[in-house]
Amino acid sequence: MLYPFLIPDLPPAAEWMPRFEQAFSRRIFSNFGPLARELEGAIAERYAHPGYVAVTCCSATIGLAVVLLSLFKPGARIALPNFTFAATYQAIRMANLVPVVIDIDPVSYELDVVSLAAAIKSTRIDGVMPVRPFGFVREQSDLIGLCREHGLQIVFDSAACLGGSELPKFGSAFGEIEVFSLHATKSFGVGEGGVILCPAELEADIRRRLNFGFHPDRTFDFGINGKMDELHAAVGLSQMNRIDAIQGARAQHARRYDELFASSPDIQLPADVSPGSGWTMYPVVLKGGDVAAVATQAAELGIETRRYYWPTIAAGAREPVEQAGELKASEWLSQHILCFPVYAGNAAHLIDGLLLAMEKLFPARLN
Ligand SMILES: *Cc1c(COP(=O)(O)O)cnc(C)c1O
Repeated sequence: MLYPFLIPDLPPAAEWMPRFEQAFSRRIFSNFGPLARELEGAIAERYAHPGYVAVTCCSATIGLAVVLLSLFKPGARIALPNFTFAATYQAIRMANLVPVVIDIDPVSYELDVVSLAAAIKSTRIDGVMPVRPFGFVREQSDLIGLCREHGLQIVFDSAACLGGSELPKFGSAFGEIEVFSLHATKSFGVGEGGVILCPAELEADIRRRLNFGFHPDRTFDFGINGKMDELHAAVGLSQMNRIDAIQGARAQHARRYDELFASSPDIQLPADVSPGSGWTMYPVVLKGGDVAAVATQAAELGIETRRYYWPTIAAGAREPVEQAGELKASEWLSQHILCFPVYAGNAAHLIDGLLLAMEKLFPARLN
């Protein structure tokens, strides 16, 4: 494909090798070593609400599962949106908890607060795992207010959200937790990795669960090996220096898509996205269109597209999934959304050509 869907932008080895050399001189390669601690400090300072700390981990999926293990007893029922990546659901299952899927808001594509309120009335909900879809950061006071009223802990799946310095700080006095992915294809890529932002009082238990659940006397809670190693921490420290430029370039590319579709009545675009959000793809809702046909036409023009989040959790899981309320908005959206590439600086030379190809793909809609 002329225009691949994902072109990771990681720091070159020359930038992080000198940092990783420190691991050899210290002979510390993992277990929350000095590089991981340094990355955690830098991420917390940059992205987190006061009183929050960052804990590195090996992926967002494991980070989410470990936070749930730390907070909930087996069998607890966790609400999540039906419109998300499989990992949100899988993390809940891995923590031995019961996922309960709920519909989304048709404009923000986020967990619908009215549907969540109805679910809280109609069934037992013990915790909530909302998703920040496509890495879009938005204000969450309605959701936090509802959960505060019912004493429900929130764990955000914010996988693709780590972006530029204009981002509002993550976390609040309510104590919600945020989990980010550092996968190569996400906004802040290191290869494989994740970061948990949590109130400081939860840090020790989360770290222990990431290290087999060991207590100092070698007795253990249920845990896993979910630690980040020093090599990925070194890459992450270098990526810290590049993330503003990466995010800025991606946001600029997204603005070009905004302009392209500005006067297209049958296309719905992302709304109210906070500046600084990590754009890794550009989701387009084709209200009347045939998504599969447009994807085929795009491929003929050299544009690789993907359908996210498709299938939904309820449609995609090969096991029965409990749902609370109807799932109309999420099922409809999943059938009508197509995602286009968003490039950072290392692929900026492709953007003009891609936009020309996009004009060919959507001629009727644009005139
Ligand atoms: C990518 C993604 C994940 C998984 O992140 P990993 O670090 O690859 O485990 C989870 N949730 C969402 C919404 C994602 O986009």
